Amino acid sequence: MDLELRDEDIAFREEVRSFIAENLPQEIRDANQRGAHIPKEMAVKWQKILHERGWVAPNWPAEYGGPGWTSMEKHIFAEEYQSADCPPVSGFGVTMVGPVIYTYGTDEQKKQHLPNILSGDIYWCQGYSEPGSGSDLASLQTRAVLDGDEYVVNGQKIWTSLAHLAEWIFCLVRTDTEVKQQEGITFLLINLKTKGITIKPIISMDGRRHLNEVFFDDVRVPVSNRIAEENMGWTYAKYLLGHERAGIAQIATHKRTVERVKDIARQEHSDGGVLMDESGFKMRLAKAASALDALEMTNLRMQADISAGRSPGDGASTIKVTGTEIQQELNEILVQALGYYGLPYSTDQFRPDWNEPPVGPEYSAGIMADRLLRRAASIYGGSNEIQKNIIAKRVLGL
Ligand SMILES: Cc1cc2nc3c(=O)[nH]c(=O)nc-3n(C[C@H](O)[C@H](O)[C@H](O)COP(=O)(O)OP(=O)(O)OC[C@H]3O[C@@H](n4cnc5c(N)ncnc54)[C@H](O)[C@@H]3O)c2cc1C
Repeated sequence: MDLELRDEDIAFREEVRSFIAENLPQEIRDANQRGAHIPKEMAVKWQKILHERGWVAPNWPAEYGGPGWTSMEKHIFAEEYQSADCPPVSGFGVTMVGPVIYTYGTDEQKKQHLPNILSGDIYWCQGYSEPGSGSDLASLQTRAVLDGDEYVVNGQKIWTSLAHLAEWIFCLVRTDTEVKQQEGITFLLINLKTKGITIKPIISMDGRRHLNEVFFDDVRVPVSNRIAEENMGWTYAKYLLGHERAGIAQIATHKRTVERVKDIARQEHSDGGVLMDESGFKMRLAKAASALDALEMTNLRMQADISAGRSPGDGASTIKVTGTEIQQELNEILVQALGYYGLPYSTDQFRPDWNEPPVGPEYSAGIMADRLLRRAASIYGGSNEIQKNIIAKRVLGL
């Protein structure tokens, strides 16, 4: 891994920076500045602008629509993208099911799904977890029984992020009950408009709807929607989870948070001076910022592996654990920096048409919301306790 920036890399950074400055719609910048939720229509509008430039899926191979960047170019792009507060493109499609489809899918599946994922015309969601199967995912019970050239699916998924905004769901279903749990699972692509699917909301502690329950009642799914072999779904699911965990790190976003904390702490009064002068506060921030620098290097090594065509593998668990721990620590520091103004919280501020100022200084917008939402970061994508078990066994060989 070469960390030296070449002239081409410096020029590339300029190219990305000016593209974003010229093309990111003003309404998205404004919403971001207020810490407001970006509605799907706005996010899709931005994805289409990126798609036209060929920049939606940095990690995809060029033959499927990736830009063919080096790992350094991907890193530069992520830094510029996240620090300009661009909305993330739909991760369930681009980061998760897309790589599964181009790696294991049929030509038909590639033709049907990959272009729609890139253009943002089809949003995906992830149907892995069930009421009795989260960490112990392999125990999942949603049943798919073959009937002619269709599977009949019955069961329930839970914590399905953004199912209410998605058109398709990728699901793990049980196709064999007689074998070891992991050997009886199949990976299906299911159109959410299919008869027999019901989606119900779950409101999370930030007062918003991100999550859902998805019920399947005699849902008929063509066999042609199966990824590769029946009962081999666990292999494809694990491959996908590696990409999911690697994508959770969001390092450039956290670097921006460090800058945001400094900015706020230079303005907040404390003991006759400003918060940034307090040694205890500075120490806590410096510790988080140093951990972030170390994580960035580890992430760069992993990105180099992905660029060389290797799966992020179990090392992605390290990125996931450390990245989410740093994220939650920075979110807490931000709330601490705001003092009493960290506490007022109203979900009205997330309405796209909301134009009242926040309670407290402008810079307090969205901080508590983010703190509440990202409390779940150490749970989704596989809880951090489980990731530590994986690191112990498969990375450290304990
Ligand atoms: C905001 C959010 C979004 C999500 N989005 C999705 C989604 O889109 N699609 C989807 O399929 N799922 C999604 N999930 C579900 C998520 O993957 C699960 O919540 C997660 O895998 C944990 O499973 P569980 O909730 O059943 O908890 P459990 O598995 O019941 O775990 C409870 C606690 O016990 C600990 N624990 C369990 N087993 C062990 C062990 N062997 N060793 C040590 N500790 C253990 C866990 O770490 C956890 O702290 C989401 C969850 C959240 C919170």
